[in-house]
Amino acid sequence: MRKSVVAIVGRPNVGKSTIFNRLVGERISIVEDTPGVTRDRIYAEAEWLTTTFNLIDTGGIDVGDEPLLVQMRQQAEVAIDEADVIIFLLNGREGITAADEEVAKLLYKSNKPVVIGVNKMDNPEMRQEIYEFYSLGFGEPFPISGSHGLGLGDLLDEVVGYFPKEEEAEMPDDTIYFSLIGRPNVGKSSLVNSMLHEDRVIVSEMEGTTRDAVDTHLRKDDQDFVIIDTAGMRKRGKVYETTEKYSVLRALKAIERSDVVLVLLDAETGIREQDKKIAGYAHDAGRAVIIVVNKWDTIDSGDKTMKEFEKKVRAHFQFLDYAPIVFLSAKTQKRLHTLIPAIRTASENHAKRIQTNVLNDVIMDALAMNPTPTVKGRRLKVLYATQVAVKPPSFVVFVNDPDLMHFTYKRFLENRIRDAFGFIGTPIKIFARRRQ
Ligand code: GDP
Ligand code: GDP
Repeated sequence: MRKSVVAIVGRPNVGKSTIFNRLVGERISIVEDTPGVTRDRIYAEAEWLTTTFNLIDTGGIDVGDEPLLVQMRQQAEVAIDEADVIIFLLNGREGITAADEEVAKLLYKSNKPVVIGVNKMDNPEMRQEIYEFYSLGFGEPFPISGSHGLGLGDLLDEVVGYFPKEEEAEMPDDTIYFSLIGRPNVGKSSLVNSMLHEDRVIVSEMEGTTRDAVDTHLRKDDQDFVIIDTAGMRKRGKVYETTEKYSVLRALKAIERSDVVLVLLDAETGIREQDKKIAGYAHDAGRAVIIVVNKWDTIDSGDKTMKEFEKKVRAHFQFLDYAPIVFLSAKTQKRLHTLIPAIRTASENHAKRIQTNVLNDVIMDALAMNPTPTVKGRRLKVLYATQVAVKPPSFVVFVNDPDLMHFTYKRFLENRIRDAFGFIGTPIKIFARRRQ
């Protein structure tokens, strides 16, 4: 299920990143008195009561040397494009400025729900200042204080109230959602195009099945697939779409809705530092991952070159040791037929459930093969294990003392589980928990 997205807009220094940090619950972006400081992160998960949603700090989408007003307009456009609900933040101590009115004009035209947050209302006496903000025409303004954490509950109640109700027809559960990520020009759009023209692939515009018009539905060999954010790969020509922060934001949004993420590399240019960063997003999100080496037509290939390239990939992406590598050419369609089967396998493994008794047979064999370590004279005792979640498969191992479960032993158990059940393409998680 896709999480709702909330964007914070407003002119510099009204407190966007302060509020972002409050709501996300960690200090992940830099707050400074200088307007327009660079932010570390602009997209993160937040939670209110029982609802989780994704939050964008549009202030972090910085388009270089553009005049302030142009930047603000672009940030508002990002919010309008990406968000389900927009928090329009103002400074209660300064009232409505000309810049605020500019932003308001864009938001009027957007048809997206807008909630007004009047920030820097640090004490209750200031609350009478908020009446002026009714004149913006977005309904009730909510007095808040980002630095003191005041009023955020009422603001969020209002925001959450606008989230779309999940009543639309959903795709059947066995649909595989996947996305393609990679730096510009690795061939994402070309690969989507080639896949859509593959033999026996049926592309359908299934109406009303999703809110995201940017998705593409396809079917092959009785399996439904959705390619997420296909339109995000087309260059639509808006200025902010070329900024790195914005591409990261799009990628994170797409990854989050995916079962399987294809990390594209370019055989022609080789592996770059940026590839690693991008691949890291997929891994961190716990999605199934396939590494796709595209443009294989540009390489004079024999089995040896493939092995050599594979070695390089493995060295660069050690954290993705579970990801299969598919070599292909979007252009000539060479080896393209290997991709969909790889996606199916990775997706099945990502959702795989292992019966507790079968799992414990494997764990007991592992214990017999490699006895548990002792730490300061105390031996780790493993009692039993059980799978507690899928997507990705997650296991709890009950032990006498979790502190005795070292990384290396956990890694050993993970490898035994992988050997036994073949979780190719998916990360798996193992947690140690105390049981007397
Ligand atoms: P942004 O440019 O809109 O992201 O604004 P920042 O979050 O960087 O905040 C700008 C300045 O306003 C910083 O010095 C913050 O400490 C300050 N600030 C943010 N929220 C509040 C608040 O609720 N009360 C007060 N007094 N200052 C705040
Ligand atoms: P994107 O930015 O990741 O969506 O990349 P594009 O799909 O726009 O491709 C970038 C460039 O690489 C274009 O000039 C494509 O024609 C070219 N390209 C894409 N796939 C291949 C391939 O498999 N082989 C070769 N030789 N070129 C490719």
